[in-house]
Order: sequence, then C-alpha cells, then structure tokens
Amino acid sequence: MNCLSCTNNELIDELPPRELVGADELWRASHAYDTALPGWLILVPRRHVTAIHDLTDEEAAALGSWQVRLSRALREVTGCAKTYIVQFAEQEGFAHVHFHVVPRMPDQPDDLRSYRIFGLLGAPPERAVSEADRDALALALRERLG
Ligand SMILES: [Zn+2]
Repeated sequence: MNCLSCTNNELIDELPPRELVGADELWRASHAYDTALPGWLILVPRRHVTAIHDLTDEEAAALGSWQVRLSRALREVTGCAKTYIVQFAEQEGFAHVHFHVVPRMPDQPDDLRSYRIFGLLGAPPERAVSEADRDALALALRERLG
C-alpha cells in the first residue's frame, strides 16, 4: 500500500520535527509540506483508516483533545485568531483520514478565509514554508503541547 501517512507512522522514531509536531499511540500531528501558511498542521490516526466512521471510540475521544490542544498551541505560537479544522481524505493517494488544523491569522485576507484558505495549500516550492521553518515551528509547538 502506498500511503504517506502510514509510511511516516511506521518511521515515527526517525521523523524530523516537521513530521512529528506531536503524537501518542493513536494520533500523530505534522506540519503540511506544501503550504504557504506557517503552522498549517495535519492530524492523522496512527492506523490506516479511510473514513471517520471507522475510528474507534478511543481514537474518537482522543481526537477532540488533539484538535483543541493543537489549536491552543497554534494560537500561542502563531498568534492566530482561530483555527479551521477540515477533513476530506479524497485526493488520490491521500485516502488516510487526515484533519487539516489551520491557523487563521488576524490579518488573513478575505479571499483566503473560510474554505478559500485552501488556496494556501499545494503551494509551489518557492512559496511553500521551508523545511527549516517547518522544523522550527514544530519544535515551538511541541513545547506548548508539553
Ligand atoms: Zn495510511
């Protein structure tokens, strides 16, 4: 099976900070690799699950805590006004359930708010947040997560 989330879950002990903002036995958070927005996080179950209804009760209970803890950490680190949380898992090769946890900045232009925030994903390399910046953000977020 070719699944980036599963591949990284299996390599959890060797991942750079940007791929391991936080984790427990059920969930792992990383920084999105192709976004122009610093702090755009991805939260994935440690198991290959392709629909929310297939999460266990235990995974579901931990999910709420992860979403709120990541949102609090993003607010402290990025100064965002709020976070957006979105889940589709529809793109070819990305069926593994993944929640986008996205900081909405106070000065976010109107044309990049709400669902239009996805204009900041799929960024070309020259506009994407660099590996070094993603690692630095991940380490700062880790500290807030405790
Ligand atoms: Zn998977």
